[in-house]
Amino acid sequence: MPKYEYLCRNCEKNFEIIMSMKEHENKKVSCPTCKKEQVEQQLSTFYSKTSKKS
Ligand SMILES: [Zn+2]
Repeated sequence: MPKYEYLCRNCEKNFEIIMSMKEHENKKVSCPTCKKEQVEQQLSTFYSKTSKKS
């Protein structure tokens, strides 16, 4: 199963969740540390870091 990387906007912690793609579509991800849903998915795991420049 794919691994998804998230950053919590509330406590600014990085965490990883392993789940199926279907779960990923339907599930609300919350931070394991503060339990908030203010999380942002990090795409660096799947896409090349060099491809995205800000
Ligand atoms: Zn958090």
